[in-house]
Amino acid sequence: MAIRAVIQGDRPELRRTCKPVSELSDAVRRLAEDLMETVQAEYAGSLAAVQCGVPVSLFVTCADGTPRVWLNAEVVARGPDVRGGESCASFPGLVVESVRPEWLLVRTWTLDGRVEERRVDGVEARLVAHELDHLRGTLLPDLVSESDLLAQLLAAVADTAGDEPETHAVDEDVQQILDLMADAAWKWNLAVELLAAYTTDAEAAKRLKRLRRRVARLSTEADEWEAWLLNLAESGSEHASADPEG
Ligand SMILES: [Zn+2]
Repeated sequence: MAIRAVIQGDRPELRRTCKPVSELSDAVRRLAEDLMETVQAEYAGSLAAVQCGVPVSLFVTCADGTPRVWLNAEVVARGPDVRGGESCASFPGLVVESVRPEWLLVRTWTLDGRVEERRVDGVEARLVAHELDHLRGTLLPDLVSESDLLAQLLAAVADTAGDEPETHAVDEDVQQILDLMADAAWKWNLAVELLAAYTTDAEAAKRLKRLRRRVARLSTEADEWEAWLLNLAESGSEHASADPEG
């Protein structure tokens, strides 16, 4: 068994439609075992093979400590819609409110080649519905409107930004923009440092040099925008204090 890397973000690999599993080979069994180990390592409730780069109709769920493998799963019947929170190992930190069936009756293969029908309720039904979406290339951000998604992403960023003291001179939106830029800049710098270990051939070294220059420029531009934004926030707060309503 092995823990596999989970593809993150809205990437083309996650937009593929998954093919049915036609044969229960050792590779398929090993993949199922790896997914199970990975879903537990990620503290996730479920995971599809396509999230680990294998676009086949296979996913695992682990609701209330009950691990289950789902192969070529199809919905036979469904309950009424209910609202609830939903997250995804490919979008860490993002929780959206979505509408999912209260229960599902699903026909699936088992790893020993039988076909069975399983009824799942509540959290498990939500996980199965989420994974069935993955098989069609539908992702968590598709479940909410663009404005809701932006609001939720910003809330997630604010949550992970740490507990720096609030700057009153700086408008909240401006602070958020600065946080996002700073976050992106250090991530790019880190990525470049990590990449350096793999750029052993001359062509890659040349490309890394070019990337390094761009990342450095990005940092410089972020600094320039910071100065400009702080200035803007400053004049904005002067406006605000001139207004008796505050
Ligand atoms: Zn997911």
